[in-house]
Amino acid sequence: MAETCPHLAYREEGDGRSFETARAFCTVTGSFVQPMRADVCNARYELDPAADCEFYVDPESTEDGTEPADPDR
Ligand code: SF4
Repeated sequence: MAETCPHLAYREEGDGRSFETARAFCTVTGSFVQPMRADVCNARYELDPAADCEFYVDPESTEDGTEPADPDR
């Protein structure tokens, strides 16, 4: 079962903008996540960040990637 994307963060500031409440932020693109894509980031509706997001990168290839590799892949 897909899990929330490891690159999903919540920030109040970033990408040249700021908000009163933390919003979904993608650490790969360095920008806030569009509402439609947030469903992919949160793995809702059986969506899978690794398979359904073109920005997704394997956590092991990122500097701070601490997530174990998905054994199903
Ligand atoms: S699913 Fe894609 S857009 Fe969302 S946090 Fe992960 S890499 Fe970024």
